[in-house]
Amino acid sequence: MLSLYNSLTKKVEDFKPAHPLQVGMYSCGPTVYQFAHIGNMRAYNTSDLLVRTLRYNGYDVKFVMNITDVGHMTQDQLGGGDTGEDKMEKTARLEGKTVWEVAQFYTDVFRKDYDALNFSKPSRLCKATDHIKEQVDLIRLLEEKGFTYTTSDGVYFDTAKYPEYGKLSSLDQIKEGARVEMNEERKNPRDFALWKFSYKDGRAFNAALDDREAKRQMEWKSPWGKGFPGWHIECSAMSMKYLGKSFDIHTGGVDNKEIHHPNEIAQSEAVTRKPLAKYWIHTAFMMISGEKISKSLGNGYTLYDLEQQNYDVLALRYLYLQTHYRQEMNFTFVALDAAQNAFKKLVLEISRWEEAALDSGPVPADVVKDYEDRFLDAINEDLNMSKALAVMWELVKSDLPSGAKSRILFKMDRVLGLDLENLSAQIRNAQQIIPGNILHMVEERQHLRKEKHFNAADKIRAEVEKLGYVIEDIKKGIKVRKK
Ligand code: AMP
Ligand code: ZN
Repeated sequence: MLSLYNSLTKKVEDFKPAHPLQVGMYSCGPTVYQFAHIGNMRAYNTSDLLVRTLRYNGYDVKFVMNITDVGHMTQDQLGGGDTGEDKMEKTARLEGKTVWEVAQFYTDVFRKDYDALNFSKPSRLCKATDHIKEQVDLIRLLEEKGFTYTTSDGVYFDTAKYPEYGKLSSLDQIKEGARVEMNEERKNPRDFALWKFSYKDGRAFNAALDDREAKRQMEWKSPWGKGFPGWHIECSAMSMKYLGKSFDIHTGGVDNKEIHHPNEIAQSEAVTRKPLAKYWIHTAFMMISGEKISKSLGNGYTLYDLEQQNYDVLALRYLYLQTHYRQEMNFTFVALDAAQNAFKKLVLEISRWEEAALDSGPVPADVVKDYEDRFLDAINEDLNMSKALAVMWELVKSDLPSGAKSRILFKMDRVLGLDLENLSAQIRNAQQIIPGNILHMVEERQHLRKEKHFNAADKIRAEVEKLGYVIEDIKKGIKVRKK
């Protein structure tokens, strides 16, 4: 049985979805104002492993992820409560583009990186700006139930009206962060914006820039005035739209546990009176030289940076697999080199299995089962991927016939996602393209051997080797491959 650490109960629990066969899962996606870095990608790696593990266990998974393309303010993460400038508008200002162009550009790059890392395609990838109506509707319900108040710059959630607030987080941290910058009209440092106004006293007003004529590019009509939604409300509106009022799993990076997720819970559960999600899964940070990788610090490598240095993107995926998702992980190039070497060695090893597969005899069912069981136990142990990798290597190094090994291995790769079948076949195919002159020499050698001119045949073999190819005598004749 799958067990998962649930941040809500702070315990490892057996996974029991509401429906016995179907799972609804929501992952907080990227804010598309910059390139995603390898730290961000680590959080999506966990969501992907979870989706793959659930599917491996036979569940039908509906996996929803959002794209934040509006309303995420520069101070949000500090608990400054929706102050600072909208990150999207800020990039547009700095890059001289429209906000829509910024959103499109970084969304496209994100999707490309996401695919390159072999992450599971979400059943639905939804943008905040496509769901303004749903967000307004939810705020309206909160207003009707008395959970909101309005200040000069927006509509806020009144946490004092919701005593259960902050189940996930440590409240002290929110108060601490809130000291950084505080909107004086807010009643409580923990209150957060549901809707922010872009006009004040009838004039364009960008509160972040404290400028009366700085007009926002993204703004919508609402019952409270023209403006834009706060960051948190999008995830409540979209997750409930696609997965229902209560669903099974919600994931995100560990920073979401302090502010974003408590806010999502409050604004959803205040309306529905049902738990938004049963299991909350958080990925620990990826660090670099002891510091959190973060977009604002600008210390994060992107996939593009790694590719420029000739790293294989899937070597990064292999690196992620080596550290448990709840453990902080320090990124170094030494570790990435080691991951790349191990990954290459693995693919090369598998690419050599083909011939031996021909003589793979029967394999006792209990031997196969033993590998499969131990692999399943590892992934089901709160996604213990390093343990799963160890079982995989044990299989690779075993003396089982390679036909059986590849069958078991490719099944494991449904979770590991290292594209092993495809990559090993590519290597094999590349090695099989033997130039005509080499084939000619090989034929000549065969002929000489038949005529028992072994010395002359050996000379040709040596020639062929000098040209970079190996002739192997195998049961069914000969095989030629690149050295
Ligand atoms: P953002 O695009 O900034 O909204 O972040 C997207 C996701 O990446 C969120 O789930 C964050 O919690 C997560 N995240 C941000 N930085 C890191 C990091 N250094 N390591 C792991 N996850 C991170
Ligand atoms: Zn979210």
